[in-house]
Amino acid sequence: MHQNSHSVVIIGYGGMGSYHAKLIKNNGRVEVVGTYDIDSVRAEASTQDGYRAYPSLEAVLEDKTVESIVIATPNDSHKEIAVRAFASGKNVICEKPVTMNVSEFEEMTAAAEQAGKVLMVHQNRRWDEDFLIIKQMYDQKSIGDLFRIESRVHGANGIPGDWRHMEVHGGGMLLDWGVHLLDQALFMIDSKMTSVSSRLSFILGDEVDDGFEATIQFENGISYLIEVGTTNFITLPRWYVKGTEGTGIIEDWSMTGRTVTRNREAEHVEPKPIQAGVGLTKTMAPPSEEATITGVLPEPFRQPSSFYDNFADVLDGKAEPIVKNDQVLRVLNLIEAIFEGGRTGETIRDFDQY
Ligand code: NAD
Repeated sequence: MHQNSHSVVIIGYGGMGSYHAKLIKNNGRVEVVGTYDIDSVRAEASTQDGYRAYPSLEAVLEDKTVESIVIATPNDSHKEIAVRAFASGKNVICEKPVTMNVSEFEEMTAAAEQAGKVLMVHQNRRWDEDFLIIKQMYDQKSIGDLFRIESRVHGANGIPGDWRHMEVHGGGMLLDWGVHLLDQALFMIDSKMTSVSSRLSFILGDEVDDGFEATIQFENGISYLIEVGTTNFITLPRWYVKGTEGTGIIEDWSMTGRTVTRNREAEHVEPKPIQAGVGLTKTMAPPSEEATITGVLPEPFRQPSSFYDNFADVLDGKAEPIVKNDQVLRVLNLIEAIFEGGRTGETIRDFDQY
């Protein structure tokens, strides 16, 4: 162990657990001192990667040299592992979705508070460049006041893996990708939600949703669409946003995109009708070249530090967590409203009490 570094053990050394090990390796202030996985194949993989494989969760929790754990197991197991860790005096970084619902999360935060320990949820997509570009547009009003935001992720590979197909393990896309996109929305928009309408899809015939659409209305007038699909062989853009002065688009993860804004200097010229289908239209005619300005995407908003630097700062008493537990609670409450709307077909109102 390096002096002044914070020791962590990763619980669940699967896809995301091993990714955490890589993330931590690039951060000098936190160090992985071991892992625990119930699957002996994954325990062996951990040894191969140079990390001590603890024989049980008890062994990790009894080890006084371990300051914190990272929980990267299937969603239904997060709460119990976290509550036991707090009781043993450990801090917890927990993967998303932190728990299956609001009441489990309240139990988890109560255990953290009672133990006086830190709980930080790995909402890592608050650091995604595409999101931070849109956040900058929202904050800086570079295309005017945003009034419509469309945030989509589209795949064509169905639901991956094993436990993600099962309700009992917290499978489905709302709890998987959904929690990321909803967290981004609530982190960005500083306004209360007034309603949400939603539709879940079950095209693949799984017991859990393979995608969903949710439209959130905010008190400040923003209508925010979130869509996750796993049967989209042609994808729609990652972001499409409309402001009072223009429109912005980000096509994909490589940040292909642009803004088009009204040219306030240009003289107004009445658009000429175009042939559209079997009719004529002026309304849908493209604006003249002089009437608009095509611009590049703004520089992204900068988070004050990386997730693990922030975690180390929080442990050292130097910073507040960037991912706050009351924000996580608000997202879980929104997820419950989306499930309810999906089940009943109703628009859900007056649910944003946090
Ligand atoms: P995975 O199936 O690849 O890995 C889970 C591992 O946990 C497996 O190796 C399994 O053997 C082990 N495990 C199961 N129950 C256990 C227990 N009780 N104790 C110890 N080990 C146990 O799954 P994954 O894709 O790595 O997902 C794990 C978690 O990470 C989920 O909560 C998921 O939502 C989250 N995740 C987050 C992101 C992100 O970007 N933040 C990305 C992928 C997954």
